[in-house]
Amino acid sequence: MGKKIKKEKVKAIVIRKDFCKGCGICVAFCPGHVLEMGEDDKAFVKNIEACTACRLCEMRCPDLAIELHTEAGGSDTADGSEEGRMESVEQRA
Ligand code: SF4
Ligand code: SF4
Repeated sequence: MGKKIKKEKVKAIVIRKDFCKGCGICVAFCPGHVLEMGEDDKAFVKNIEACTACRLCEMRCPDLAIELHTEAGGSDTADGSEEGRMESVEQRA
């Protein structure tokens, strides 16, 4: 179990505006400059194509306002199927 190169592909970045307090931490930490602060002082997704699914924003947001939705990857499979998980492991490349 040395190298774990599991590439996740981001499907959506959900920012709950009612949770966001506009601290800007997610914007500051995002290495891809995916996020920006809006005029309403809430974070928003500006450039999802640049997202590498590193999850820094999700981890750093003090208000748990960010949720990353990815394809193939998570250790939890949404549908709970073992087969689905096997497939997603094999598909990495
Ligand atoms: S880190 Fe969380 S609370 Fe702060 S701006 Fe980003 S989404 Fe809003
Ligand atoms: S997962 Fe990483 S690259 Fe994507 S928006 Fe969050 S911090 Fe930026």
